[in-house]
Amino acid sequence: MKPDDFRAWGYRLVDWIAEYLEHVERYPVLPAVQPGDIRAQLPREPPQHPEPFDQIFADFQKYILPGITHWQSPNFFAFFPANNSYPSILGELLAAGLGVQGMLWQTSPACTELETHVLDWLVDLLGLPEKFASRSTGGGVIQDTASSATLCAVLAAREQASRGFSNANGVVPRFTAYASTEAHSSVEKAWRIAGLGSAALRRIPVDDRLALRPEALEAAIRTDRQAGWIPCFVCATVGTTSTLAHDPLRPIGEIARRYGLWLHVDAAMAGTAAIWPEFRYLHDGLELADSYCFNPHKWMGVNLDCDCFFVADRQALIRALSVLPEYLRNPASESGQVIDYRDWQIPLGRRFRALKLWFVLRSFGAEGLRTLVRRHVALARLFTDWLASDPRFELAAPVSLNLVCFRLRADDATNQTFLHRLNASGRLYLTHTRVRERFTLRLCIGNLRTQEHHLRAAWQLLQQTADQLLSSPPRSLQ
Ligand SMILES: *Cc1c(COP(=O)(O)O)cnc(C)c1O
Repeated sequence: MKPDDFRAWGYRLVDWIAEYLEHVERYPVLPAVQPGDIRAQLPREPPQHPEPFDQIFADFQKYILPGITHWQSPNFFAFFPANNSYPSILGELLAAGLGVQGMLWQTSPACTELETHVLDWLVDLLGLPEKFASRSTGGGVIQDTASSATLCAVLAAREQASRGFSNANGVVPRFTAYASTEAHSSVEKAWRIAGLGSAALRRIPVDDRLALRPEALEAAIRTDRQAGWIPCFVCATVGTTSTLAHDPLRPIGEIARRYGLWLHVDAAMAGTAAIWPEFRYLHDGLELADSYCFNPHKWMGVNLDCDCFFVADRQALIRALSVLPEYLRNPASESGQVIDYRDWQIPLGRRFRALKLWFVLRSFGAEGLRTLVRRHVALARLFTDWLASDPRFELAAPVSLNLVCFRLRADDATNQTFLHRLNASGRLYLTHTRVRERFTLRLCIGNLRTQEHHLRAAWQLLQQTADQLLSSPPRSLQ
């Protein structure tokens, strides 16, 4: 591709993206494809000769686009959102254009310093404890995902609890970790990858609001200690994936302190809400945590991947993850005056992800982000009111932010059919969970483009589908 072709295609693609995003609701949210449909249309052999880009792009439109799930659709209410936004897309484009590999300060000073700077900004914007700022003992780093952040936290906790033994000699088999039964699967995955075994992860029961019960945590730690285990790590969740339940950080933090455990707080989705002081109660007690993460790529308009991971003691993290080969030695690192983010993450190489975050923070401003969060929370409350007005529906969990968990007052099979019919319409996308074993629908409002009229249309579709489902005979008679 020649520079002029790049220019021409660059302009065309930007036009195409803007057109796509402005009219994304034209598409069915879920594509109507079966497994293997996409690959069956692609040539089996890789190309031997250069192909013109107009042919390549035509094939994208013909073969790939029909297989896309439209995450940016205002009618996407599934999982948690993965928002993009125009400034973030431009940040991704610019990072691709610069093609920087920011493993060390030396390998691109601005890549490192901008990252440190915007993560310090986030400490201020979200009212996070001062110790998470780089001007204090800690600091922040952008990870690809919350899963990686939690893994880094586990590795730092393991190294700290073993006083250096685990890096030098291998895994200490008697470490235990704690998280509620509602915690994300990434906690178990991290514990497994760290070589500590799923069986040593204790799932602590929750209360009637689906929050971890601190007294059950303390009892489990005491029982384990008496049996010769070494309790080492606890993960509290602010905004669980299933229902956005939040664990009480203060009592959990006090227990972690008392028994010498590393407390990691996973606020992947809900952390963004702290941009509003009125939601900071979710973070009450966070000053007792050793590490914290949230995902701007969920609810802050920053393209995936962007997880912000903060530690209270950066040395504890670096001790766990730093290995220095000769070919990476350089004067700046040896001066001790710079941050080398390769020591704060699993991989060596890293993209310039701070650009998109910087672009978003500046383009929206704190005010713009507050408006976004406020709007989504208000829409979730509106939807909750509609549900309450229709006796065929019930709420399945308390609604604290922008996620509503609900079901028809009917058995699991009926609710499953209900969800299937809704999604098959192509007009929206919802997913499900189980709340206390029962099949439950989740509606999460987190898309930049979702307006009240989209939600109203969704509610009408829910009501019509419920009409049809509840008036038709049970499935066994059909
Ligand atoms: C989404 C989510 C995760 C996983 O996020 P990734 O960034 O995809 O790893 C972890 N924890 C919670 C609470 C989540 O909601």
